[in-house]
Amino acid sequence: MARIEIDEVLGGWEGYEAVAVRRNRGMLEIELDPLAGRPGICTGCGQEVTAVHGYERRRVRDLPVLDAPTSLLLRRRRLACPRCGPKLERLSWLARYARVTQRLADNVAQLCTAMTIKQVAQHYRLGWDAVRDLDRGYLQRAVGPVDLHGVTRLVMDEFALHNVQKLATVITDAVTRRVLWVGKGRSREDVRPFFELLGADGCKAIEAVAMDMNSAYEPEVRRHCPQARIVYDLFHLVAKYGVRGNRARIRA
Ligand SMILES: [Zn+2]
Repeated sequence: MARIEIDEVLGGWEGYEAVAVRRNRGMLEIELDPLAGRPGICTGCGQEVTAVHGYERRRVRDLPVLDAPTSLLLRRRRLACPRCGPKLERLSWLARYARVTQRLADNVAQLCTAMTIKQVAQHYRLGWDAVRDLDRGYLQRAVGPVDLHGVTRLVMDEFALHNVQKLATVITDAVTRRVLWVGKGRSREDVRPFFELLGADGCKAIEAVAMDMNSAYEPEVRRHCPQARIVYDLFHLVAKYGVRGNRARIRA
């Protein structure tokens, strides 16, 4: 039987070559080594670097080969960048701290548009959490960061996360009803990232914030937006600031 160069058939591991292939408990394991003497791109500054600081062993999942779940064992290069110090090499096919290759991540995200997370996880024999995170990351890239420009009135609300004994906070624009931010928890620390995201100028532009009287958000709002009126029910906000409609009940 003719020997086949697995890199040629499967490929896609730019800068690396397969040095060993084996089956281990139904999984296909492909060992990859970086091609010697090739300069790499620093993940810090994006410049080409020749000197290698060291290697880190990584195991990442790739697309299945002939239906066998496939993992790659690779020595990830850490470059000795003269500008940034020791930094990981940038790879086109593997994000910096990713546990799966880019092409597997893309396929998972694609399937998630048509199948449930559970079905996709079973299909690729990945963990449910891993698929959920890949899907979420894809959505964030696809949707992009929310534009907080021109936001003046906020509604801060808490809601129960589906099937979990945990609460989360949702912040909406009281005028447009657009969801601006969602975060785990309902303490003042939990909502701090939103105000950091909003920035100093954005915080200054906030005129009013509606929230439940029993919520813990108020001190955090006062700290970032001291000029804002705190309104304990939305009807006050309607009367004073002309916001129409009923408060939306949000279910996760
Ligand atoms: Zn660098």
